[in-house]
Amino acid sequence: MEKEEPLIHDFDIGLICDYFGRLERQGPGSPEATVRALSFIDSSRELKIADLACGTGGQTMILAKNTKGTIIGLDIFPDFINKFNINAEKLGLQNRVKGIVGSMDALPFQNEEFDVIWSEGAIANMGFEKGLNYWKDFLKKDGYIAVTYESWFTDERPAEIEKFWVDAVPEMGTIGHNISIMQKAGYSLVAAFVLPEKCWTDTYFIPQKAIQKEFLEENAGNKDAEVFVEYMKHEAELYSKYKQYYGYVFYIGRKI
Ligand code: SAH
Repeated sequence: MEKEEPLIHDFDIGLICDYFGRLERQGPGSPEATVRALSFIDSSRELKIADLACGTGGQTMILAKNTKGTIIGLDIFPDFINKFNINAEKLGLQNRVKGIVGSMDALPFQNEEFDVIWSEGAIANMGFEKGLNYWKDFLKKDGYIAVTYESWFTDERPAEIEKFWVDAVPEMGTIGHNISIMQKAGYSLVAAFVLPEKCWTDTYFIPQKAIQKEFLEENAGNKDAEVFVEYMKHEAELYSKYKQYYGYVFYIGRKI
């Protein structure tokens, strides 16, 4: 019998944090893609930005360097937020950029508090539709949302890659479908663009290769750590085999 592949949701959260905390970014993306998404937003005045599921702040610090105003980064894992605040301090951004622990589906914010809500590589944890609907309340009228989300590029795709992603992100849809969800949620589309391949390779898979050995050494004897690294290697192999069928897309919308 073929062995059942593990699912990302089966792994211990502490282990996942240990692994991803070693990386500058915890998901596909790049400074160039963040700056490009920001170019669709009027950032000549001071903005109040929330970066939801900010991780250790890779994209947040890029946002801070390219905007005026304040940014609150929020993530569920205290270790990531500790690293985030240390990074902000190192860059001298601590007066404008603050990381707090919290969950993206129970935000500790006021209605209409933000000019911009940002979230890279994370909305699938809550659901694209649910996240867009819930987060809208915290945006001012005419405020912007900018999120990256796993998306299909074709209407049909090979069973192997379909299964992998349906297990990880059950609601994953095509770009057209996702734009329509955004419009139904009460945003007008400002822009949507596909993240270039190097957002997966140069900033996600290649840095992982560099930390896998030390991660395994430090977790020696932990079978789950080995299985987790195998899972991440498998994800990278699937990407190189099937990248014409899916990727991350930046969706930028404006609250109506
Ligand atoms: N935005 C970062 C991290 C993406 S990885 C980047 O692009 O590099 C996904 C992030 O979602 C992780 O940091 C994880 O801790 C966070 N996360 C998962 N569930 C969450 C929740 N319910 N609320 C807030 N953050 C969450």
